[in-house]
This record gives sequence, structure tokens and C-alpha cells, in this order.
Amino acid sequence: MTGKSGNIILIGMIAGAALGVMGGLWLGDVFLATAFIGTIFLNALNMVVIPLVVASMIVGITSLGDISKLGRTSGKTILFYMTTTGMSVFVGLILVNIIHPGSGVELWQTEIPEMVKSSDKKGIIDVIIGLVPKNVFKAAAEGKILPLIVFSLLLGGVLSAIGEKARTVISFFEGFSLAMMKIVHLIIYIAPLGVMSLIGTIIAQNRDSVEQLVSGLGWYSFTVILGLSIHGLITLPLLLKYLGNRKPFPYFLNMGPALTTAFTTASSSATLPITIESVEVKNKVDSRAASFVLPLGATINMDGTALYEAVAAMFIAQIWGIELTFGQQVIIFLTATLASVGAAGIPHAGTVMMVMVLNAVGLPLEGIGLIFAIDWFLDRCRTTVNVWGDSVGAAVIAETKEFSNSGGGTILSRLFGKK
Ligand code: ASP
Repeated sequence: MTGKSGNIILIGMIAGAALGVMGGLWLGDVFLATAFIGTIFLNALNMVVIPLVVASMIVGITSLGDISKLGRTSGKTILFYMTTTGMSVFVGLILVNIIHPGSGVELWQTEIPEMVKSSDKKGIIDVIIGLVPKNVFKAAAEGKILPLIVFSLLLGGVLSAIGEKARTVISFFEGFSLAMMKIVHLIIYIAPLGVMSLIGTIIAQNRDSVEQLVSGLGWYSFTVILGLSIHGLITLPLLLKYLGNRKPFPYFLNMGPALTTAFTTASSSATLPITIESVEVKNKVDSRAASFVLPLGATINMDGTALYEAVAAMFIAQIWGIELTFGQQVIIFLTATLASVGAAGIPHAGTVMMVMVLNAVGLPLEGIGLIFAIDWFLDRCRTTVNVWGDSVGAAVIAETKEFSNSGGGTILSRLFGKK
């Protein structure tokens, strides 16, 4: 996709979002007739995400050259992700203590949402066990990205070790990952319509809760959005500039389609194909780094979700009039960070993981019912920051010495054989 058509797509997506907002507000239920377009867009993204992730990770790993780089890269990636997540929770906790959004909010009748009640409560050990898939095809069919990352790492690693004899298999995955990328380009052409439909539908369905957004839950939403803005517009750009050696604004603009898709779908996983495209093709980040860092980020790095979990837990404590000590806030800091690692990249996953944070400090689970009314909106905002955080991570890791000394390799060089 050339720069020019990329710009047209971005303008199209923004126009689509604007039309969606107007359609949803003015036409209400009539707009729901367009919902099928959004479903097709979402299906198309989900269709391509698993084959794309598996193939591009295998290619990324086999083209690393020296396999010991993989260990160092993984360590640095996880360290960077955990640090940024910690920074974002910290910002959230400071804001919620200053703004105190829960004061004066009346406790209205509320109960634990069905989605939270019926979720299988997973501990950290279950998450670790789940990393190794019993059946890789079942994991793929269920869209579970983490176990597939583990499988692709193993496969890529042994293919590298086998060397010449594995050449055909490696070439197969090279061709396959390019083909998946081409499909992503095609999907991006229908993105403006998909965005319009998804935004309009969700607004039409939630017109009533717009009132709650500005009344009882107004200060709470304001705190979350302010925290997300500080992290997304100040902290991450500074890291991008100084650790990633990139100009933040152009990098951000190039991420436009991915960020708009994140906001529209509320799913980091569904957005992943477009995130990979925007990072590798538009921002020209070394594809060996990006193909590893981005899938991992879409599942374990959720800065926005972590911030939201911490603010939401504190807000619930404030409403119930429970004063949390410094020690308890440290527990919230840690559990919010862990909950965001464990949350899947799908809509509302972070809210379901709230159970872990609330239980850790003994807060009432009914609180989730209270904030659920506007989760459709805040979920979108935090998912956008989650995806932005992943893309900054890719640029920073691509600058580490594992990649910067070895000539780089953008997806364009793979596609057209030029550097
Ligand atoms: N929807 C978010 C994501 O996909 C996860 C969450 O619910 O916070 O990144």
C-alpha cells in the first residue's frame, strides 16, 4: 500500500467513524440494518489473524540468523512491556487519588454482570499451563494467540537449527506470510465501511448510557480517559522518541488505521493484522522484530487495560466508602498489571479480569455491574492505547542491538527484494 492510498484509507476510516456516530445517534435502531457490514469486517480480520501471526512469526524467527538473539529479544520485550504497563497503572492510581471520582456518587441497585459470573476464573498457574497447547489446531480454531506464539517460536527455532534441509518449509512460510499480508491489504480497503457500521451500531444500541457517561459515571470516565491520554500522548511518545529513535507524530499518523480499528472493534487481537501492516509497511519497522513483538504485545501488553483496572477498582472502593491503605493500593498496582497480562485481546476481557483485582483487596464484585454500563465506550478507548503501546514496543525493540547491527529487513524488502 503506497503512502498516498494509505492516507486515503485513513481519511476514509475517519469519515466512516464520523458517519457512524451521526447515523447511530440520529437514525437509532434503523442504523442496525448496517450491522452485517461490521460483522463481515470483523470476520475478515479474525480470519486472517491466526495464519498471519503463525507464518510471520516463523519467518521472523528463521530470519534472525543467530537463534540466541531470540532469548535476548524476548527478555527485552517482556521487560519493556512490563515497565510501560507499570507506568500506566501508576498514572492511573495518582489520578484516581487526586480526582476521587467516587465521592458523591450514589450507589444504585446493581448486580454482577452475567458475563463476569459465567467466566471461568483463571489463576496465574492456569495461564502458564495454557501457554502449551494440547492441540495446536484447537488453539488456532479458538483464536488463542499465546499458545500459538509458543508453538511458532518452537517451530521457527528448530527450523533455523535444522538449516538447509528445512529450507523448503521456511520458503513455504515466507510465501505464505506475504500472501496473508496481501489479504490484509485487501481487507483494509473495506475498513472505512466496517468502521462506520461498527461504530454506528454500538452507538445506536447504547444511546441511553450516554446519559450515564455524563452523570454519575462522568468523573470516573474522565479519570480513565485523562489517564489514557497522559500515557498515550506523553509517556509512550517520549519512549518512542528516545528509545525508538522515531518521530512520534508521523509514527502515530501511520498507525491511524490500526488505532481506528482498535477503537471500532475493541479487540487488540482482531486489530493485529492491521497493526502488523501499519508497523511494518507504513512505519518500516524491521519485520523480524515486529513479527515477534506485536503478536506477543496484543496478548500480554495492555497498558490501557491495566490503567483502567486500577482506576475502576479504586472508584468502586470510593463509592462503597472503603478507604484503601497504601499497602492495598500496591496490591491493586500489582494485580491490575497481572490482570492485564492475563486478559485476552477481545472486547470486555479486562472487565471480566476485574474480578481478580477486586478479590485481591476484598472489594464487592457488584461494583463491576456499576461500571459495566459504559464499558462499551471505555473498552474502545483502552484498546486503542493497548495497540498504540504494542506498536511503540515494536519500534523500540527494533532499535536494540540484536536488530540494529544486522542490516534490518522491512516487509517491503521481503515483498520486493529491496532494502
Ligand atoms: N478489549 C481490550 C483489548 O482487546 C481488552 C480489555 O477488555 O481491556 O485490548
